[in-house]
Amino acid sequence: MEKIAVYNTLAGRTEPFTPVKEGEVFMYCCGPTVYNYIHIGNARAFVFFDFVRRYLQRNGYHVRFIQNITDVEDKIIKKAADEGVFWEDIARRFTSAFQEDMAALGVSPADFSPKATESVPAMIALIGTLEEKGYVYKTSDGVYFRVRRFKDYGKLSKKSLDDLKAGSRISVNEEKEDPFDFALWKFSKPDEPSWESPWGKGRPGWHIECSAMSRSISGRTLDIHAGGEDLVFPHHENEIAQSEAALEEPLARVWMHNAYVNLNGAKMSKSLGNDITVRALLKDHPPQVLRLFLFSAHYRKLLDFNAEALEESHAKYERFSNYFHSFKDEKEIPDSPLVQAWDLRVRRFLNDDFNTSGAIGVFFEAVSACYKDKENAPLCGAVKAWLRSWDEIFFILPNEDTATSGSFEALMEILLELRQKARSRKDYETADLIRDRLQDLGIILEDTPKGARYKKCR
Ligand SMILES: [Zn+2]
Repeated sequence: MEKIAVYNTLAGRTEPFTPVKEGEVFMYCCGPTVYNYIHIGNARAFVFFDFVRRYLQRNGYHVRFIQNITDVEDKIIKKAADEGVFWEDIARRFTSAFQEDMAALGVSPADFSPKATESVPAMIALIGTLEEKGYVYKTSDGVYFRVRRFKDYGKLSKKSLDDLKAGSRISVNEEKEDPFDFALWKFSKPDEPSWESPWGKGRPGWHIECSAMSRSISGRTLDIHAGGEDLVFPHHENEIAQSEAALEEPLARVWMHNAYVNLNGAKMSKSLGNDITVRALLKDHPPQVLRLFLFSAHYRKLLDFNAEALEESHAKYERFSNYFHSFKDEKEIPDSPLVQAWDLRVRRFLNDDFNTSGAIGVFFEAVSACYKDKENAPLCGAVKAWLRSWDEIFFILPNEDTATSGSFEALMEILLELRQKARSRKDYETADLIRDRLQDLGIILEDTPKGARYKKCR
């Protein structure tokens, strides 16, 4: 098995990846709150962590990937009120939209996609355990977690409660013991979704949803807990506090966080209204182009989405497309030493905390080498097969059928050119032979003043 190094936010450094149980990985990636279409910034986490999952699988790990759907939350309730519809309708509509967008982006569905609304009993049970251990108190609007009682609070975000307090503008709720105490259970207002609980009718807080859903599926410490860096504090810090207070063992071994996507230098966010949805982008750009953009920087580096970056990703995609169209399928040579050397470099990049842009750089080196050595058909065949094998996890190459139809067109151009050459030297026998043989294949040639054209009859 490859040695993979992963940056662990909790440890604050890159460490060798060692799952709890050899060869098995439980991976949890915080899913969407379904109240709107996802934007390209949200997509970065979903595309990247799906890539991590697939890379681990490629390396022989048995990965169980969990991604929740937060289908009850303040934003969903607000959106429903704004539109004058049931909150369930909003949740359903945007859960489907999320799944469609993921499929269109080439992200494979999670092995487990628990919905918050279907996991309420597990959340109530977890809050019950916390109550027995003295971590919980009740106010007039809900049940809260007592952060000061959890000694390790701040270990993920490296913030202490006192520093936080000094720099915070958090609204003060007089009934809370500490401004950073957070709601585990929110008592419902009229017309809001609610469930019965030992503390009164209400609904779960967002943080407890992830703690309960991840645990009820894995039943043990997760190997990887992942999400966007905006989730480090308070979401993941609070998940750690409540899970570890209740279970007295780590919630996850490795915490992975991806950086933001900016839009022309400014932070992209739904609430700021400057987000570009995946859905809108997919109308004008193939998914491979968006993935090339998302993989163009290391996942822990900020990405800026702008016209130039999109143009660059298009150019990369074109380069791959032209390559697949220019070289017809050749028999591969399985043991090409050049391909083996490139493969080793790709794996080194990926084993070094998933450096996708480094790996893609090597793909382009291989493509360039084929252009330089055009006569070397076996090498080009080997490179094509090698790229295709990596594309099972990258999904950045033109689809095979597009590539084939592209090579068909390229081949037809060659035949038409040869036939034109034969005609100009009055070699009508060869010219007619090409026409007749094509006709046998159902391709009809027509000579026009602008040259020959063809149409397929079957
Ligand atoms: Zn979460």
